[in-house]
Amino acid sequence: SYGTWEIAATSLTFIEEVGSGQFGIVHMGYWKNKYQVAIKMIREGAMSEEDFIEEAQVMMRLSHEKLVQLYGICTQNDPIYLIFEFMKYGSLSEYLRTKRGSFSKETLLGMCQDVCEGMAYLESNKFIHRDLAARNCLIGDSQSVKVSDFGMTRLNEWVEFMTVHRLWEEFKGVLMWEVFSEGRMPYENRSNSDVVEELTAGFRLHKPKLASLFIYKIMSSCWQERPEERPSFFDLRNELSELSESGE
Ligand code: ADP
Repeated sequence: SYGTWEIAATSLTFIEEVGSGQFGIVHMGYWKNKYQVAIKMIREGAMSEEDFIEEAQVMMRLSHEKLVQLYGICTQNDPIYLIFEFMKYGSLSEYLRTKRGSFSKETLLGMCQDVCEGMAYLESNKFIHRDLAARNCLIGDSQSVKVSDFGMTRLNEWVEFMTVHRLWEEFKGVLMWEVFSEGRMPYENRSNSDVVEELTAGFRLHKPKLASLFIYKIMSSCWQERPEERPSFFDLRNELSELSESGE
């Protein structure tokens, strides 16, 4: 048992399935018939118990308005459940895609700012999100965006691919690119080896139509070859808020 973090299975009500991912099915439900929550069932064998405990402990220690909060875990059952704050509109990438064409630049910038704030907090806690992407951000009321899955290790193909080109770029710039291209896939229709080759040759993601030159300059700064020249999330957050105040 995990002390105060242990949530009793009997205090959970399952309402409906809202998605499924790498680790299993996600339900919307209630905790103590009062708090709306997302209940993530961890599919058996999806994670070793050791990894699971380590990740859960990390997620529980971290708390910020722009991070999807983990409320607790329920280990009495098999599968184990993780209980999170519920985010009404689901994944950011899906939301961007379904509402493509309806966003103002200010809204998109605001989304990037939200993510940056959450990430700057992680950064200040010396914590590295292993998989920052629009599909790992969730969207709630008044289009506020929060970073999710910051404790999870992913061993799918996508991660292997991102690990390869992490040498060249950082997720922060790619996430901004995803937002300003309204959920398009970076490097669509290219194989991993092609992408690596193109990045080596100096190729970078093009400027999305909705991104101003200023925005593109900021996202491009994350893709500089030398890591020490790339901005931190702290820097990035300041640059974005300056930009949003200037109304450029
Ligand atoms: P993955 O393993 O692919 O990251 P997740 O298991 O985190 O996927 O989530 C799968 C889907 O369930 C998400 O795309 C989202 O639609 C939904 N979901 C996950 N967590 C939440 C949450 N806290 N609130 C609302 N919906 C969620």
